[in-house]
Amino acid sequence: MTDTPTDDPFADDEALDGDPLAAARALDAADPLAHYRDRFLGVTPRSPESGAPDLAIPESVVAYFDGNSLGRPTVASAERLQRFVVEGWGGRLIRGWDEEWMELPFRIGDELGSAALGAAGGQVFIGDSTTVLLYKLARAAVDSLPERSEIVLDTDNFPTDRYVLDGIARERGLDLVWIEADTEAGVTPEQVSAAVGPRTALVVLSHVAYRSGFLADARAITRIVHDAGALVLWDLCHSAGSVPVELDDWEVDLAVGCTYKYLNGGPGSPAFGYVSERLQRELVQPIQGWMGVRDVFLMGPEYQPADGLRRFLSGTPPIVGMLALQDTLAMLRECGIQAVRDKSMALTGFALQLAETWLTPLGVALASPREPERRGGHLTLNHPAMREVTVRLWERDVIPDYRDPGGLRIGLSPLSTSFEEVAVGLAAVRDVLGELIDE
Ligand SMILES: *Cc1c(COP(=O)(O)O)cnc(C)c1O
Repeated sequence: MTDTPTDDPFADDEALDGDPLAAARALDAADPLAHYRDRFLGVTPRSPESGAPDLAIPESVVAYFDGNSLGRPTVASAERLQRFVVEGWGGRLIRGWDEEWMELPFRIGDELGSAALGAAGGQVFIGDSTTVLLYKLARAAVDSLPERSEIVLDTDNFPTDRYVLDGIARERGLDLVWIEADTEAGVTPEQVSAAVGPRTALVVLSHVAYRSGFLADARAITRIVHDAGALVLWDLCHSAGSVPVELDDWEVDLAVGCTYKYLNGGPGSPAFGYVSERLQRELVQPIQGWMGVRDVFLMGPEYQPADGLRRFLSGTPPIVGMLALQDTLAMLRECGIQAVRDKSMALTGFALQLAETWLTPLGVALASPREPERRGGHLTLNHPAMREVTVRLWERDVIPDYRDPGGLRIGLSPLSTSFEEVAVGLAAVRDVLGELIDE
């Protein structure tokens, strides 16, 4: 962590040299999205005029840096879930399926597509877990190109992505072609160009790398994959709700992503899948269940996949799990994903400056891209003591997470995180690491 590049939005914020907390408060005062924090449960201090119901969180957190692993709940979701149990489930009972729930995976999918993914209607659905959707869509993709024998992936992708693709390769007798990704950066268009060829069926990559936060050039890479005659599947777990995505414009084939990270859907809320309209009639997914057929209640003798997106469903959709994310989609519609991205870059930029001021002298190294436009919503800070630092921070209600080797991950969910929280949390990292070094 040496030079500060000129494109850093905080490059010449000399206020930091003086009083970082005052600088943080000034940034909060100027933040057009600051008021969204009041819409989350458990954020202190709450403003009395926020109109929040009397829902106290038992223990309040000093700084939450893990909204990229599990987003905070919104006040609206607490009300929505309660209302659903009483009125929807309790009141409508089985009638709810005909009245609303059968279409809910597609209705919420459309809302997500337009608010955050740049996807026109009829291409995004809410389904199973990311892992299962990845399996279903990747299998459908390779099965559609039977003359091709390779899947391209990278060594630093999230474990589930690597494991699922390894399983598919064994199942279908395909070869995996590994791109050696730089763990402090990510996969480049040049590396993809070198890895694809006439045997490539499918390329699977993360848009934002879960460890480094590196933001891949999805448009350029998608074009390279198509020029090789292959299909691309983007994992959007760390982008959805934080980084603008333009699936239609980039001409992406397939995508999957989580809803419990930046979309605040709650623990284990179901994932989303995107299947480009171009491919919907061609691809057949391997888990042939009754909810994916043309006429669900015909209960016919054979599996007849539905014409559109419904064919990617398998069993009964997890309705309760997909309710809460609608409240984050409502906020995204209101403020626009670009405003969220702007705040995200400002938050990570501020965190980076504090890290340079406080943590570089303690031997901490940045393991994320320096340029704001090349990273997503989190930063990784490396030091051999970070595993122990994380344990001690959690005891103090400062919550980052830890990723091997030696990486403290600072995830800054833009709608629920303040600049003050960043300053207070990083000061705690400095103090804890300092204590450990002195021991
Ligand atoms: C979080 C994450 C997942 C999680 O998959 P689940 O099936 O929801 O457990 C998958 N891929 C990436 C890149 C992730 O960051």
